[in-house]
Amino acid sequence: MTIPAELVHAIRGAGHVVVLTGSGISAESGIPTFRDAQTGTWARFRPEDLATPQAFRRDPETVWAWYAWRRETVAEAQPNAGHRALAELERRVSKLTLITQNVDGLHQRAGSREPVEFHGNIMANRCFAEQRRLTDDECLPGTPPRCRDCGSAVRPDVVWFGESIDESVLERATTACATCDVLLSVGTSSQVQPAAGLAELALSCNALVAEINPASTPLSPTAHYCLRGAAGAVLPQLLTELKGTDE
Ligand code: NAD
Repeated sequence: MTIPAELVHAIRGAGHVVVLTGSGISAESGIPTFRDAQTGTWARFRPEDLATPQAFRRDPETVWAWYAWRRETVAEAQPNAGHRALAELERRVSKLTLITQNVDGLHQRAGSREPVEFHGNIMANRCFAEQRRLTDDECLPGTPPRCRDCGSAVRPDVVWFGESIDESVLERATTACATCDVLLSVGTSSQVQPAAGLAELALSCNALVAEINPASTPLSPTAHYCLRGAAGAVLPQLLTELKGTDE
């Protein structure tokens, strides 16, 4: 794959780079995207039928069990070359804001500092009634656990279908996209709103937008560059090119 020299040049000279990642970047770490996750015990469930407040109200035990299974997969996974390349990119440019739709925490484990976790973190817990994040000590054991304070069920601290993005998270993400010079959209199908609108926002604010994805997405026709390949191959190559022009 040839990385366009103009893209490397733009990243090198950018005052602010935004990277927006989706589940595709973690696919090479063995964490299935939602579409691929429909295997084994959970094949008969659609994520849209489990990852909702209504599903949790109706059947908290099943939803909790699904998340327990996903948490195990995440705990066993390791960051891959794509995550590591982004952590290094952050150290090489003037300013980088990493916005991830992923809930797996692999960017932090690869060394990225303070990514904007657009959809929360699967390992964290939240009180279903009070909507505040809980430490392990604040949870009483159970399936699902109960909030020590109010007795309500405990849920994973992620954004479910139909729920709003935390206001401060949305503000951080939109401000970054409206003011960046370059946006890289990595491993996301660009179909889940409002995350999908972030690249469009950057485009409308005259940022240079590049997509890194083996498949085409609704963003592809308007992106300035489409790098068709796996994040774990393309991002390290992009970094190598960047180092080459640095030296
Ligand atoms: P998606 O499942 O809709 O799309 C995944 C995209 O990744 C596809 O376009 C696919 O072509 C691409 N892809 C697959 N392998 C790739 C690779 N090796 N390198 C680069 N791209 C690759 O994912 P989405 O756009 O992130 O949206 C789905 C929602 O699912 C998000 O809200 C996310 O929070 C959630 N989710 C997160 C995780 C996780 O945390 N790892 C896992 C599953 C789902």
